[in-house]
Amino acid sequence: MQRPYNFSAGPAAMPEEVLTQAADEMLNWPDASGQRCGMGVMEMSHRGKEFQSIYEAAEADLRELLAVPANFKILFMQGGGLAENAIVPLNLSAQRAPAGEQGTADFVVTGSWSDKSLKEAAKYCHTKAVATGKPEGFTHIPDAATWQLSPNASYVHLCTNETINGVEFHALPDLKALGSHAELVIDFSSHVASRPVDWSKVGLAFGGAQKNLGPAGVTVVIVREDLLGHALPVCPSAFDYKTVADNGSMFNTPPTFAIYMAGLVFKWLKRQGGVAAMEARNIAKAELLYAAIDGSSLYFNKVSPACRSRMNVPFFLRNEALNDDFLAGAKAAGLLQLKGHKSVGGMRASIYNAMPLEGVQALVQYLQEFERTHG
Ligand SMILES: *Cc1c(COP(=O)(O)O)cnc(C)c1O
Repeated sequence: MQRPYNFSAGPAAMPEEVLTQAADEMLNWPDASGQRCGMGVMEMSHRGKEFQSIYEAAEADLRELLAVPANFKILFMQGGGLAENAIVPLNLSAQRAPAGEQGTADFVVTGSWSDKSLKEAAKYCHTKAVATGKPEGFTHIPDAATWQLSPNASYVHLCTNETINGVEFHALPDLKALGSHAELVIDFSSHVASRPVDWSKVGLAFGGAQKNLGPAGVTVVIVREDLLGHALPVCPSAFDYKTVADNGSMFNTPPTFAIYMAGLVFKWLKRQGGVAAMEARNIAKAELLYAAIDGSSLYFNKVSPACRSRMNVPFFLRNEALNDDFLAGAKAAGLLQLKGHKSVGGMRASIYNAMPLEGVQALVQYLQEFERTHG
């Protein structure tokens, strides 16, 4: 029996092959040679050789997939993207602060997530919204030439894919060319591994795993080495990037099972041809879905075409009275979790790496059928 297609924004659909493998290994994990060890991954010491091998493979595979340069550390942390909204300023805001003064962080506010990041950082440093898409309802990215960057900011924060508003940066800004000496920090929670990252422009990237990398419970942080070691004195030890890095993400017990599951996803991504191959598929999926929405007279998407997300596609029915019927019919057709975020309303289809083209084709077919019978 075929499983339904799950369009959840997160926690989101996992590749079926990964779930099947994890089920097979649940009670008795086999090493790379197939030798079973008598324990499930949840039951292993994080310091034992079995888990160490899982950890090392996960780190190496992620480094290879995202082409992370050798001078960046990959950390597996807890707390999710929201905790990083505090952990980043706790670690980075003092970088360029005058002695004895609070540092400054700049924020480009392109949707709900970057807005949250700014508010949280304000507990730890000076903050500035250097541009905002709020007046237009978060439907575009303000042109970088108009950003009012602070002369002394320690970092500039972007949410490179706004999961709720469906706005994505298709290129990273070059801060130096814009006259800023700040580091670029990106929240890539909802499009990590869906496209390559230009590390020459980035100081730090963070993302919760539960959209595109695995289950909830592990947060990936990728940070350039020279940014470590400047945490504010009040920063909790378990959240000091240098402490975490110096201990190979084992300062305290890491989320072992979530790391193992993410590691299986990394192996799956490599079998799919890696991030470049995923990007090509993600472009094809997104083009198909946006074309169906734009070509209809019942559905519409508000985001400016130049910054539409390939991962999260919010759309609306012109007749909102049909929303419940639309969702009930979708569920009956095996298309789950299409309801939009409560702050935006309407519908949202999240089409992460684990969503096959066939799932988007099935959704498009349903959109057209529903329009034909209700339009
Ligand atoms: C989901 C999400 C978060 C929040 O992640 P949590 O794990 O719930 O803390 C942060 N940023 C973005 C862009 C997200 O999509």
